[in-house]
Formats: sequence, C-alpha cells, structure tokens
Amino acid sequence: MVHRVHNFGAGPSALPLRVLETVREELLDFDGSGMSILESSHRGVEYGRVHEQASDRLRRLLGGAEDHEILFMGGGARTQFSAVPMNLLGESQQAEYVVTGRWSELALEAARNVGEAREAWSGRDAGFTRIPAAEEYSVSPEAAYLHFTSNNTLHGTEFHSPPDGGGAALVCDMSSDIFSRPLDPSPYGLIYAGAQKNLGPAGVTVVIVRRDLLERSPETLPATLSYSRMAAKSSLLNTPPVFAIYVLSLVAADLIERGGLAAAGERNRDKARELYAAVDGSDGFYRGHAEAASRSLMNVTFRLPSEELEAVFLEGASSRDLAGLKGHRSVGGVRASIYNAVEIESVRALIAYMADFQRRRG
Ligand code: PMP
Repeated sequence: MVHRVHNFGAGPSALPLRVLETVREELLDFDGSGMSILESSHRGVEYGRVHEQASDRLRRLLGGAEDHEILFMGGGARTQFSAVPMNLLGESQQAEYVVTGRWSELALEAARNVGEAREAWSGRDAGFTRIPAAEEYSVSPEAAYLHFTSNNTLHGTEFHSPPDGGGAALVCDMSSDIFSRPLDPSPYGLIYAGAQKNLGPAGVTVVIVRRDLLERSPETLPATLSYSRMAAKSSLLNTPPVFAIYVLSLVAADLIERGGLAAAGERNRDKARELYAAVDGSDGFYRGHAEAASRSLMNVTFRLPSEELEAVFLEGASSRDLAGLKGHRSVGGVRASIYNAVEIESVRALIAYMADFQRRRG
C-alpha cells in the first residue's frame, strides 16, 4: 500500500488520486507511442492531441466560452501581474485594483511598474479579513480594466460574486478558486490562474481572455508575454510546459466525469460548511480569521488561543497524517486548503482531530 496523507497544502496541492494513477500508467509508453509524453516533441501528433484536448476540456467546463481564447502560458500567476498591464493598459490610461490581500498588492505593484494604476480599495488596515461591498469603491468608466483577486489564498477570503467593473474590463486573478464552482466567463475580460491549486501541477498558467482585448497587445511585447501572439499560435509559439498541460487535461477530464463544475461546487460547499461549523462550534477555542460573509470556500484560516497551542496543534496534526496546515506567516495560525481534490473524508479527519485536540487542551 502506498502511504498518502490528507493534504491541506495551499499549493502545489492535492491532485485527484485517479489522475496520478493514470499518469503512472501512461508514463513509460504514452498512447502506444513507445515513449513518455515527457519525451515527446511538442510539435508531434501525440502532444498535439493532448494540447487540443486540454483546451477543449477547459472550454467544456466553461460551457463554451465562445468569446474567449484559452491560453497556456509559463511563468506562474505572478508573471501575469506584469503581463496584464503590459497587454491591456494603454499609455494614457489607468487601471484600477481592488486590493483584498497580499497577492492583489503585488499585482498592483507590478502594474505600477508598467503604467498608471490606482488602488480603488484596500483591506490592508483591517488585516485583509473581508471583501468590500460594491458601494465601498468606485471605478472610473475610462479605466482600462478593474483587477481583483477572487480568492485570497493567504487570508482565506473570497468574492462570492464578481464585482461590477462599470465600463472597465474585469480582470481576475483566479489562481486559488478557479473551477471550484460554476464559472460563466461572460462578465470577464480576462481570467488568469496558476494551475497548481485546482487545475493541476505547477508550471502552467491558464489565461482566459476575451477576443476583442487581444487587439490591445502592443507589437513590441516579448512574444511569450503577448496575449495576441500566444493566441495566434494556440499557445504553441514556443515549447509549452507539456507535462503540466497533460496533467491539467487529466484533471479537467476527471472534473467532467464527476459532474462538472456544478457538482464540484456542491462538494466544495459541503466541505467548507462542515469545517466552518467546527470552527464556529468550538466556543471560541478556534477563531476564524475572515469575517463570516467573506469566508473562502478554498482556504479556511483560523487561530487557536495562543501561538504555543498552535505549534502543538500543528505538530499533532502531522503525526496524524494531516499535512500542510500551517498558516501563512502573514496571518499565522492554521490554514486548511480544501481545493477540489481534497475529499470530504480528509476534511472530516481534520474536524475529528480538532475536536479531540480541544478536548485535551481546551
Ligand atoms: N495569486 C494568488 C491568488 C496565489 O495564491 C498565488 C500563489 N499562491 C499567486 C498569485 C502566485 O502564483 P505563482 O506562484 O504561480 O506565480
């Protein structure tokens, strides 16, 4: 028997076991080719099929997305912090950023190195514990785009519906909650997400961009950072991260087989409901970091009465095969990342441990 832990890591994170088993089965001889997909040319027939299938499956999960191109890019989500303004922010224009966490701050900082970018709202002073209501910020109708981070991985807060960009194109860093629930791309100008949470392994970033925005990419951009040049070559402008795209395609197939994004959304809601109920039902022993209405269904962040108890809690957790629970240093405490591939049994194992720990140490 292979030893597998309950993996609550924030990313790279758990992958569906079925997907890993398929990768193992196909590793040495991919589709009768006599070689691994790791060894195949990105211009070859086998990889060509994988590449096409990957984007077809994502499109299927999105319910068509006819107005959008799906791109596979390198450099992680963080490269998109710069690529977005480099492609979409014209010289005499301004971009707007809703800052709900550390990653949004870094996205804004990167945009300011490219052009004019304004902070429309920031939750920093309140410790990034909530998502603002629509009336708390305004967006200029002339803005090139409005950027937001749908799920704040470090802090455990999440937009439960997209903000209104006014006339501006809506740009979303969806790295930590993409495909965790049904996703209609039509309100979005652009969505980007590093794959290593809900989509697959690290190494590929998915960009879903509305076709009319491709006209904005300046000719002078490095080709691999240009949305229009990547789209013109179906993301095969240069060698793509073939293995990451192959695994992403398997993850997408698995999601489709399990009922698509609606079913994934239900599973994720159930997991989060049970875990937050455990936090809320602990008579204050466990204290949630995020305001209740802004809670993330992906990253559940909470504190214990003292840092000493938190250290003991985390040590005990890992001895029970509950891995990856240490909160980000900017928040501290515990963070349980319960992405798509984390099954409810893992969440229940954590809840049982929390109850037991409180009985012993509370
Ligand atoms: N945005 C968000 C919301 C993230 O959670 C992360 C990484 N955890 C990033 C951006 C940065 O991603 P990458 O490491 O792929 O550059």
